[in-house]
Amino acid sequence: MSGWLAIAGLGPGAAELVTPEVTQALAQATDLIGYAPYVARVPERVGLTRHGSDNREELDRARLALHLAAEGRRVIVVSSGDPGVFAMAAAVFEAVDCGDPSWRNLDIRVLPGISAMFAAAARAGAPLGHDFCAINLSDNLKPWDLIERRLRLAAQAGFVIALYNPSSQARHWQLGAALECLRRHLPPTTPTVFGRAVGRADETIAVTTLQSADASAADMATLIIIGSAETRLVPRPGHAPLVYTPRSALA
Ligand code: SAH
Repeated sequence: MSGWLAIAGLGPGAAELVTPEVTQALAQATDLIGYAPYVARVPERVGLTRHGSDNREELDRARLALHLAAEGRRVIVVSSGDPGVFAMAAAVFEAVDCGDPSWRNLDIRVLPGISAMFAAAARAGAPLGHDFCAINLSDNLKPWDLIERRLRLAAQAGFVIALYNPSSQARHWQLGAALECLRRHLPPTTPTVFGRAVGRADETIAVTTLQSADASAADMATLIIIGSAETRLVPRPGHAPLVYTPRSALA
């Protein structure tokens, strides 16, 4: 029996934003692996064994997936959003890189998903219409100094910045420090979007300015987009403003 391993993105939360390719792979899989809340998003089914785990066990989870696929199981590892963006695909390839050489012969596929930055951007307008970058504010896997350096250089280079992992139960000060850092390099009026639980029932989208952005308004389900000096608002009577970054930029 030939096993396979698919590393799949479940999108930001809405069932409509799961791709048909991922739905098909989920229907064929024998084993479902992932951080427990993401595993819980997949309906139970006879013949599908669920292996939910803690968020901090990425490499163990990746090795379990590889072992099971090597035994001939059809394994699907799920991430929220896109599996290649701050998620399980890189963890699986790191495990392959450092692990059993026979794992290199496995049938491994990455099935893309809609990342939180795309879902949040779509709700606000088109803030990612010009050059942008994504920065993970978690300092669990890299030093805070490096994060601040990247924030400063990204702001100075004129990138729109998508901030992932702004806050968690264990990390409270990072977003406040990041906003302070960005305020030193960007105008106070820079449009700023807080997208919380995008695509889920409790979704909220708030458009504010860098000056007024309130770090305590974000939690671990929030994606923040900081505009560039080019990013603009189109006010609309009775509706939220449209946020967009024009396609062209001045030198
Ligand atoms: N692979 C995921 C990101 C995982 S990191 C992706 O591509 O979206 C987890 C972070 O993603 C969260 O802390 C939050 O910043 C963001 N995120 C995930 N789902 C979200 C959602 N539905 N709404 C807003 N932000 C979300």
